[in-house]
Amino acid sequence: MKTIKELISESLTEVEASKSIKRDESIRRVYKACPELKEIDDQILNVRNSRYIAVIDKDERLIKRFDIAEDELQVKRDRIMKINNIDPAFDMEKNICDKCGDTGFAKGSDGTLKVCSCRRKELEQCYEFSGMADFSSYKMKNYRDDYLGDPEGRKKIKNELLKVLLGLSDKDARTSLWVYSAPPQTGKTFLSVCVCKTAINLGKSAYYAKCEDLQTAGTDTLEDLKRIDFLVLDDFADSVTLHNSIGSVLNNILEVRTASKLPVILVTPFSKTELVNKCDMRISGKLQAAGLIAKENR
Ligand SMILES: [Zn+2]
Repeated sequence: MKTIKELISESLTEVEASKSIKRDESIRRVYKACPELKEIDDQILNVRNSRYIAVIDKDERLIKRFDIAEDELQVKRDRIMKINNIDPAFDMEKNICDKCGDTGFAKGSDGTLKVCSCRRKELEQCYEFSGMADFSSYKMKNYRDDYLGDPEGRKKIKNELLKVLLGLSDKDARTSLWVYSAPPQTGKTFLSVCVCKTAINLGKSAYYAKCEDLQTAGTDTLEDLKRIDFLVLDDFADSVTLHNSIGSVLNNILEVRTASKLPVILVTPFSKTELVNKCDMRISGKLQAAGLIAKENR
């Protein structure tokens, strides 16, 4: 699984290449319009090369002569540039994206560092790699607090999930395991996917999966799920944990992640009490200490 940071760093090679092509193009264009400038630049280059030899020879007299020659050429050059109104930085590499200086991350209007809009492609790709290929239309900006009524409650849950993601939750600092419990048809999956996408947008490694899919996940993915910054497991239910292979896979993931204090959110329509009572024993034990994200005490 490739993280957003890896994807952006891979694309930097491409960015560097196009920067250099752009620079070459700009130089060619300026020299074509002003051959006089090219002539002076060639002369400056010659003087510098000759000076370099004089430095090796330790010939102080010659070095000085070349220094004076370059100064004179530079004065001429400045004049030509001014007369022809040439950008003094025409021969320098320029950023493709001024917003992020080609780093791929830029501060948003709210001041937080996020994936820059010039890396939209990498971001979408990362969402796909992170288990969200089927949810391309789910976007946090479309999450409406007032949808289905109870805007306060919906906002509270959204903010609690974001706090867990950002490590800001003051609700229960002892745990990194959270149960997000809400009745069916309340937009849990939508919100969970959006929070997971937000994590990636902030440069974190994150993954969204349905619990039952752990059964078919490859070894590499399962290893990634133990180490990534943020994990959301949807459709969590006691029955899923009783399915032997899922129970032990899940238990293993939770064990490694809680030991490293890496957040996991279990999304479920069931109440925490019910889950503690009915889940696979190993998981039930962990759930007892888990934090609860719910509108009312469930
Ligand atoms: Zn950018």
